[in-house]
Amino acid sequence: MGTLDLSHLLTAVRTIVADDLMPLESTFLRQGFSAVLPQLQAVRRKVREQGLWAPPLPQVHGGLGLALGEFAQVSEELGRTPFGHFAFNCQAPDIGNMEVLLAHGSPEQKERYLRPLAAGTIRSCFAMTEPEHAGSNPVWLSASAVKDGGDYVIDGHKWFTTAAEGAAFAIVMAATDPEHPKLHRRASQIIVPTDTPGFQIVRNISMMGESGSDWLTHAEVRFEGCRVPQSNRIGAEGDGFVLAQERLGPGRIHHCMRWVGISERCLDLMCRYAAQRQLSPGRPLAMQQVVQHWIAESRAEINAARLLVLDAAAKIDAAGAPAARVEISTIKFYVAGVMQRVIDRSIQVHGGLGVTDDTLLSFWYRHERGARIYDGADEVHKDVVARYVLKGYGIDTRG
Ligand SMILES: Cc1cc2nc3c(=O)[nH]c(=O)nc-3n(C[C@H](O)[C@H](O)[C@H](O)COP(=O)(O)OP(=O)(O)OC[C@H]3O[C@@H](n4cnc5c(N)ncnc54)[C@H](O)[C@@H]3O)c2cc1C
Repeated sequence: MGTLDLSHLLTAVRTIVADDLMPLESTFLRQGFSAVLPQLQAVRRKVREQGLWAPPLPQVHGGLGLALGEFAQVSEELGRTPFGHFAFNCQAPDIGNMEVLLAHGSPEQKERYLRPLAAGTIRSCFAMTEPEHAGSNPVWLSASAVKDGGDYVIDGHKWFTTAAEGAAFAIVMAATDPEHPKLHRRASQIIVPTDTPGFQIVRNISMMGESGSDWLTHAEVRFEGCRVPQSNRIGAEGDGFVLAQERLGPGRIHHCMRWVGISERCLDLMCRYAAQRQLSPGRPLAMQQVVQHWIAESRAEINAARLLVLDAAAKIDAAGAPAARVEISTIKFYVAGVMQRVIDRSIQVHGGLGVTDDTLLSFWYRHERGARIYDGADEVHKDVVARYVLKGYGIDTRG
């Protein structure tokens, strides 16, 4: 896409976010996601009619075929409101599942699972993390997929399976070769339709910043003797972690740019409030040096965060996610931290109003705390960055 076209696209996206989505936020804050769902469905129709649907998907699948660096900029615009990505059908975890199916799905899998997902008529989930094992070490899994005739029989216990409630299928990480000498070759990703006998949602886990039943849920799930054809495996046997790495690279770009969008919105709220709130007649809050410093620090950090993410996206576009390992880990912990500091400063500037549910600030303060944990906790990503840096000094941090 040319520069001019991209700038038109960004303007069109920004207009829909401002005119159609932001006006729904106060109802959402008071009554929850289900209260705004009918209007969101109407916005989804409008997005599709305007040819803006599913921007990162290829045109043949109804999308715009944006490169990652281009979609990153769209993602920032969408991130300014809590439902931007949903309205444009590029929300996690569906977009990650679409990307995996697109790159590695068989023609039958594309027809049966990718096509309705891309059309937005079904939803999906991704089940890797298990309660019994540290999610930070994902090669350590108990879920198993045992061959029986032409099928796999899957047994496993997962949690934090985002959006399992209402999903038509799960992509499950399960061991297909539990004795393989290479730990990262033991598991595969397998599609399990959620109406498969033995698939069971144990509970939707009550989470900070989630209203539980009507926003994206995070489920504890059991797979008990779930029988699916071997043709439901995505990619080759043992490819599970390779696919997971591929998925998480672009996924972190999507998340990080959403967080840049959230940060921009919070800085905007901070500045508006500081400019209009009077500490005494004729003296706005913005005249306090401490507030000015918070604004300056936020401006600098957001700009730096955006450039880091766009740099990582450009590297992935040019050479693939494995080549951008350090950049991906750097943005994951850095941008999450920037977002949290900016949200916090904005709350402080708003005083008591900041901790009410009258603005988005307290929602984002709670909801986005998970950013420092999911898709790899901060500490894990700092380990990766330090490992690569210290390699240049003859130190193997894993030694
Ligand atoms: C909102 C949300 C959505 C999620 N969605 C999904 C999903 O859709 N599908 C899915 O499969 N999973 C999902 N997860 C799970 C997520 O990926 C894991 O929570 C994450 O990988 C961390 O694993 P854990 O919770 O088991 O923490 P653990 O691995 O037990 O780690 C606990 C803490 O230990 C510390 N730690 C870990 N490793 C190191 C280290 N090397 N050095 C120093 N400290 C370390 C970190 O501070 C970490 O927070 C989601 C989680 C959240 C919060």
